[in-house]
Amino acid sequence: MTFSDQLSRVIRTIPDFPKPGIQFKDITPILQDPALLRATADALAEPYRNRGIEKVVGIESRGFLFALMIAERLEAGFVPVRKPGKLPAKTIQASYALEYGFDTLEMHEDALKTNEVVLIHDDVLATGGTAQAVAGLVTQLGANVVGYSFLIELGFLNGRDRIGEITVEALIRY
Ligand code: AMP
Repeated sequence: MTFSDQLSRVIRTIPDFPKPGIQFKDITPILQDPALLRATADALAEPYRNRGIEKVVGIESRGFLFALMIAERLEAGFVPVRKPGKLPAKTIQASYALEYGFDTLEMHEDALKTNEVVLIHDDVLATGGTAQAVAGLVTQLGANVVGYSFLIELGFLNGRDRIGEITVEALIRY
């Protein structure tokens, strides 16, 4: 059994959450299993070793879970992107369309330096709107996105096309 098969066996699909028609991918069973948790973080970090990543940007809130573990493995820093009103210092904002609605995200304006090498991580790549908006925040601060990392890619939503030519890695594709 491949590692990807192993992960798909434990990830739960919850129908009609948080809205009718959404097949929600619940990654919490991975977190409950110490060996799987560690192996997942290793697998997510692996493609980005020796890529000179200086900061891993994690997207609220499920994106935080593995972004921090990836950052630790790559000896990089971690930057949280959060929902409006959560970050205490001065922020920049981006608004974007979700698979289920619209939202705004914020990043501290001093979170990244010019030309810093950045990896963006989230749990699920759906339409790619969120990742694209976060890449916009990174670019606004003059840093460079060199890759995206996801646990799960919902391939039928073609999010990959939206976020372009930069490396996109996902452990599981549905
Ligand atoms: P998108 O902007 O459409 O790529 O949506 C990605 C964001 O929405 C991520 O932060 C995901 O956590 C969340 N998301 C979208 N679809 C799902 C899904 N089917 N299951 C779990 N999370 C999802």
